[in-house]
Amino acid sequence: SKSQIKERSFHKKQKVDKPNRAHVKAKRKEMLDFRKQLPIYSGRDAIIKAIQDNPSVIVMGETGSGKTTQIPQFIKEAGMISDTLGGVAITQPRRVAAVNLAKRVAEETVTKLGGQVGYTVRFDDTSSSHTIIKYLTDGMLLREILSDELLLRYKVIVLDEAHERTLRTDMLFGMVKNIQKIRHEKLQKGEDIQELKIVVMSATLDAEKFSEFFDGAKILYVSGRLHPVDTYFTNEPQADYLDATLVSIFQIHTKNPHGDILVFLPGQEAIETLTGLVNDYAKQLKGKQQRLLPCPLFAALPPSQQQTVFNPAPKNTRKVILATNIAETSITIPGIKYVVDCGLAKMRGFNPKIGVESLLLHPISKSSAWQRTGRAGRERAGVCYRLYTEDTFRDLEDDTIPEIRRCNLSAAVLSLKASGIENVLEFDYMDRPSRISLVRALEELYALGAIDDTGKLSPLGRKMSEFPLDPAFSKVLIQSVDYGCTLEVIAIISLLSVDTIFFTPSDKRDQAAEVRRKFLHPDGDHLTLLNVLKGYWEVKGDIEWCKENFINIRNVKIALEVREQLVRFCERLDIPSQTTCGTETESVLKCFLTGFFQNTALLQPDGSYKTVTGNQIVKIHPGSAMFGKRVEGIMYNELVFTTKHYVRGVSAIQAAWLPQAAPKYFNNKTL
Ligand code: ADP
Ligand code: MG
Repeated sequence: SKSQIKERSFHKKQKVDKPNRAHVKAKRKEMLDFRKQLPIYSGRDAIIKAIQDNPSVIVMGETGSGKTTQIPQFIKEAGMISDTLGGVAITQPRRVAAVNLAKRVAEETVTKLGGQVGYTVRFDDTSSSHTIIKYLTDGMLLREILSDELLLRYKVIVLDEAHERTLRTDMLFGMVKNIQKIRHEKLQKGEDIQELKIVVMSATLDAEKFSEFFDGAKILYVSGRLHPVDTYFTNEPQADYLDATLVSIFQIHTKNPHGDILVFLPGQEAIETLTGLVNDYAKQLKGKQQRLLPCPLFAALPPSQQQTVFNPAPKNTRKVILATNIAETSITIPGIKYVVDCGLAKMRGFNPKIGVESLLLHPISKSSAWQRTGRAGRERAGVCYRLYTEDTFRDLEDDTIPEIRRCNLSAAVLSLKASGIENVLEFDYMDRPSRISLVRALEELYALGAIDDTGKLSPLGRKMSEFPLDPAFSKVLIQSVDYGCTLEVIAIISLLSVDTIFFTPSDKRDQAAEVRRKFLHPDGDHLTLLNVLKGYWEVKGDIEWCKENFINIRNVKIALEVREQLVRFCERLDIPSQTTCGTETESVLKCFLTGFFQNTALLQPDGSYKTVTGNQIVKIHPGSAMFGKRVEGIMYNELVFTTKHYVRGVSAIQAAWLPQAAPKYFNNKTL
């Protein structure tokens, strides 16, 4: 009966909820107290009002002032979002930031992650139908547009870390602006739809530019509390930044008063090496000295370990946080007094060799250097040690160049097309690439069969857009299933991704060429690379073997990492990655030709090679296995211009293969 049920449920609540309630209340108060002391809190009402009154708002504020964690909560507290109105999406360029921030905000709102607050990153989604504050990577929001064209599930889109100008964030600027316009027009026509609000957040002084792009959006400045930071440069350039970093850490530790150290390093490998070194040296410190605790922080760190950087250091211990540029603006760590900046970063970019998206080592920009310095002055005066000279600093770029200006546009255009942007020439870019580079990209995609003659994405093009590779390489990989040589193709693409897998000291050129002769394949570089890899695997990557054969072991290892990534991608896209043709090497070359038919040249009566598409004379690079050879035709991966047009990555082909490789492009007449 009814009363019984009531009693039972009452009983249940007492057991579970009641003791919890006091705890929740205490936690709420603790969190509110924390939030109230953040610099952004005093601007709460002004921020809410600005977002309510304007379609788009730009928020500029010092890192750590509370933009990313607080503004979504303000929006919710003001009743601007709900199940029915739509939620708020906050984009992050980095996966680890999206996950971390969602966790933090769930904690601050004293809710379970995946309830009101959640995150979505590739292969990991905690969001549910109740989630109204969602942190996600810029790539995931792009993907959501594919299935929810007008982003109807959201009332507010927050484009965070806008200053980083990643290709994906740049694409979102134009797309989200367009969606806002369409929703506005529909509303004007009396349709039942919500206006879309846009908030752009940035940590650097480029607010005007963002405001201009978003039709004169209102700019809000959040004043941070930045204390003075003394900045030091090295007198001499440092040959070994790891060594210089280690020395600096121990100098600070032994000579300077309390306060944690934040060290900026380029990547996981450097961080892990230094974590080991710091531990070793810290053991040798004398008795009374406070201890030194290294805490690594990088994208691939297991989430359970990420929390240690936020926890206060144990008693009589100094934390030294070894971080990538994650700690520059996207994640703030309390307690930092000293910053050590090695001046380098791995930047997400397209590996220009094969267009695979990868992390490349680069000197940072001036604005990054200042961001890093600023981390030392958040709570009190601090010190920053730059491990480079003042001259080096002066030569740094002012700002990081937007990715859209650096990367291969055929890949970007393909991804715009895949997101439903038909006219990529008229697309609203914040920094517009040149018209000619866009047209070239379209021509290339058409020749590859990724788009049809009306500019529409083909099924092949859609598949290609899923790969993190240049379109030509994506096509080769997809076609390799038909040619039965996926295993070979993946290996060759990976080996092409590094500068070279050979090691050729200038004083031992002839000797190196001589010992490597055994790898040479008569049909050229692609199959030669494969031979080297087979040799490398036979000896299980033996270091001595690599030395004897003048093989660059480091680059082979990097290439094998790319290979792992590609195998995983194939598995995800249901492409059988283990298909192999064994000894039938001709199919490998025919397969490569489906992507590189435009990079071909035919032998002329005078012994030169003339390109099929441009009627240009090209020379085979002296480093190529095909150097000095006369064959009917050649295919190449790269054209490099020095004093002559040299081609690299060259293999022999037959002219008769061309029409089969690209039936649309070649007919017998053009040949
Ligand atoms: P902004 O976006 O302006 O750089 P955030 O909203 O990311 O600032 O961070 C605001 C504050 O919240 C930081 O100063 C930091 O102290 C605190 N905070 C953020 N994430 C965490 C975390 N995971 N654990 C503890 N404190 C955090
Ligand atoms: Mg932030």
